[in-house]
Amino acid sequence: MAKVSELGYLGIGVSDLAGWKRLATTVFGMQVVSGDTPGTAYLRIDQNHHRVELNSRDSDDLDFAGWEVEDAGELSAIARQLELAGVKVRAGSRDDAAQRRVVDLIKCVDPSGIATEIFYGHPVDPRPYQPSRAGSGFKTAGQGLGHLLVHSPDIDASVGFYRDILGFRVSDFTTVSTPNGPLRLAFLHCNSRHHSIAFIGAPGPKRLNHIMFESNALMDVGIGRDACLAHDIPIAIDLGCHMNDQMVSFYMGCPSGFALEYGWGARVIDDATWRVEHYDSVDSIWGHPQLKTLATGDAPA
Ligand code: FE
Repeated sequence: MAKVSELGYLGIGVSDLAGWKRLATTVFGMQVVSGDTPGTAYLRIDQNHHRVELNSRDSDDLDFAGWEVEDAGELSAIARQLELAGVKVRAGSRDDAAQRRVVDLIKCVDPSGIATEIFYGHPVDPRPYQPSRAGSGFKTAGQGLGHLLVHSPDIDASVGFYRDILGFRVSDFTTVSTPNGPLRLAFLHCNSRHHSIAFIGAPGPKRLNHIMFESNALMDVGIGRDACLAHDIPIAIDLGCHMNDQMVSFYMGCPSGFALEYGWGARVIDDATWRVEHYDSVDSIWGHPQLKTLATGDAPA
């Protein structure tokens, strides 16, 4: 079975491009790379040309997610797997590939409505990554951009799509009792990162609940938190350590109304020994005092 290897890139529609650039540089120390048009900008966090494409439009939500496969053979095999499962697949155009700066890509839509791209040939820029503030950089090697938590109207369909068609493995399921009945979450991995995508089975104001970027050092996360306080960027969920991936992190609001998680130190998965885990709460090991808001499906930002 062909498998996705990592979360390569994300596209986000933003109504406040200047606000996004300010947050990305002040809090995360990311490099802003000029886009192909005035309404576009790229965020760079490693050797890739970019990991996030910001496009000026009022959607203020996830526009597309790009998942990497090894080579042309894997791309064809993934396309076949999707078609066999009844998913409509389109070939990316030359223009699409040029804009994403990849060799080739295919396009489909996941069960929660995310425009999903599968590509090979990740966009390397050999010039050094130039962070906007000194730091230890981001943990992306072999693990991809970070992770997404997405609101899914049909969590079983979402899990089936990523696990049975794209080759992800389940890290854990979480079931929480709430006054409105059981709330389910699912966390899936495609490499040693504990999860690259997760689903919350409750509607949200946005498709996207949050995006997580992982730092190589706890110090950078603390400096980023100080930057939020200094620049009046709301801290949606303050520092804590998650139960499942054991990441130390905090969440901030972003100009598009979802949240960004800045984390460090997550445990990694070895598929040779991993067994699916189950949790009956989203409580953190310590901290994350506002996490209950996330569990109810409300926007944490
Ligand atoms: Fe997260």
